[in-house]
Amino acid sequence: MTTPGNRDQDSTAKAGDCCGHTPAKEDLASAPDQDVAECPVMVGTPVLKSQAEELGLYRDHDGQRYWLCCDSCGPLFDADPERYATA
Ligand SMILES: [Zn+2]
Repeated sequence: MTTPGNRDQDSTAKAGDCCGHTPAKEDLASAPDQDVAECPVMVGTPVLKSQAEELGLYRDHDGQRYWLCCDSCGPLFDADPERYATA
C-alpha cells in the first residue's frame, strides 16, 4: 500500500466474513499448525488459539474447547452449542 494516511486502523468493515477479525496472514503463516483452528460458528474462518484465548474468545463445551473468531460468535455459540460442537 502506498496510500498515506492513518485510517487503516479503522478498517473494521471488511466484506466476506462476520466481522473482519481474522488473524493476519503473516500471523497465520508463522503460527504452528497446532495453534490454528477453525471457528465453529463462522466455518472457514481461521482462528489462532493463542490469540483467541487472550481475548476470551473460546468456549469449553462437553470436554472440548472451541475457538471463536470474534465477539459476535460467542453469543451464537452459547445460543446453540450443540449445533456448532462437533465431537
Ligand atoms: Zn466471528
